[in-house]
Amino acid sequence: MENRQYFKYPYRLPEMGYSYDALEPYIDALTMEIHYTKHHGGYVNNLNAALEKYPYLHDYYLEDLLMNLSALPLDIAESVRNNGGGHLNHSIWWQILTPGGSKTPTGELLQEINKTFGGFDNFKEQFNKAAMSRFGSGWAWLVLDRFGKLHIISTPNQDNPIMQNLMPIFGIDVWEHSYYLKYQNRRADYLNAVWNVLNWDVIEKRYQEMKKKVLYSIVGG
Ligand code: MN
Repeated sequence: MENRQYFKYPYRLPEMGYSYDALEPYIDALTMEIHYTKHHGGYVNNLNAALEKYPYLHDYYLEDLLMNLSALPLDIAESVRNNGGGHLNHSIWWQILTPGGSKTPTGELLQEINKTFGGFDNFKEQFNKAAMSRFGSGWAWLVLDRFGKLHIISTPNQDNPIMQNLMPIFGIDVWEHSYYLKYQNRRADYLNAVWNVLNWDVIEKRYQEMKKKVLYSIVGG
């Protein structure tokens, strides 16, 4: 991700780069404000509090911690998982919702989506199904595996796909805090709305970055 300083201790909220009402009417301004300042802000504060007494972990980037949760001190492992995952997930979230950009996938990612899922409509249907069937709180994701293949998955709570050695291209937040004020229990209506505000230029860029990481990992660079 850009602006790596947000992903190392002391962690900070990355700039959202647009106003809380920028995604109206699909995502309302109050939800955006509370989601960003209170929920994401809370994850950042709790993550810093957990890591404060372990200076030897301050030199690592968040991704390194999340990929090595079993190596962390037991008293903070769960907090780093939840709050660190929350920080990373929401940083991706604001980025892929940046207003503007293409409203549908183009270029190489579209070709890969067509090849893997049998067309964009089928992809959207499968993605929504993963998002709808996530019980309780969590995320649905388009990920790239270490063989360069696309998959749709969902994760519980604030788990990020890198905890499973999968790279997140984009995700949709299906915690109730991301939609309840406007959509109440209607997760399907919220999901339909979100597809109108995804920025596929940003998502394509993330796909290209993740592909490079796959190549590096294969050659060991
Ligand atoms: Mn959220």
